[in-house]
Amino acid sequence: MKAHHLNCGTMRPFGGKLVTGRGSYLATAELVCHVLLLETDDGLVLVDTGLGLGDVRRPGDTLARWWRLMSRPVLDEAETASRQVEALGYAASDVRDVVLTHLDLDHGGGLRDFPEARVHVSAEELAAATRPDKSGNDRVRYPDNQWRHGPKWVPHEATGETWFGFAGVREVRPDVLLVPLFGHTHGHTGVAVRVGDRWLLHAGDSYFFHGEMAPERHCPPALTFMQERMQVLPELRLANQGRLRELVRDHGGEVDVFSAHDATELRRHRTALA
Ligand SMILES: [Zn+2]
Repeated sequence: MKAHHLNCGTMRPFGGKLVTGRGSYLATAELVCHVLLLETDDGLVLVDTGLGLGDVRRPGDTLARWWRLMSRPVLDEAETASRQVEALGYAASDVRDVVLTHLDLDHGGGLRDFPEARVHVSAEELAAATRPDKSGNDRVRYPDNQWRHGPKWVPHEATGETWFGFAGVREVRPDVLLVPLFGHTHGHTGVAVRVGDRWLLHAGDSYFFHGEMAPERHCPPALTFMQERMQVLPELRLANQGRLRELVRDHGGEVDVFSAHDATELRRHRTALA
């Protein structure tokens, strides 16, 4: 198994230091959509999809206006997973499985570009995202237009094995696990991938800033605000974040934990591969 760390959606929100913890307050910040592309003996696997071609070409169809104003996505077609898969010499149809941390618009945007893939997601998340009577935040975060084509959903219940103390873990493919980390959304999960003798854990939006995994625990105020605004189960979210901190503290040598939107973490992984 080989893992590529991709950025499938740069965002440049205003707020500088309030977002990144560094530099001036007037600068624009940089956030990413950290996506894994796995090359396996049995085709390609994507962990999250970031923004897709449809989002970039017709953002008004899927990306709510206030989200665009707040996040300021760059909307560059070259950053989409499908273009990056092609740049590596593959076709979109080589992606057999997509494994999602959750269905927020900046994670499932690329689903339409891989219509033949099985889409693994927690049953709770699929139910929350596709219910017909969504309201408030849910209407913005879960745009129906990202899955009108009818993805090959494979919902997974949170019952199964234990992995480093995390319960209800499901193996969706060999060496690819769905790890329940509910809180940010109803069915938010991490995705663990075994590469050689180590694990990668894509923790999705369980936390937004690398400093939140440090023992002293630091997060710039704008990112704290965003996390609190988007959470649906606050106590569970914070409890899961605490368990991730313990995982990093106790098993940092075996498991490499990273989140979806932190540009520093993405750079760290790309440098390690280079
Ligand atoms: Zn997100």
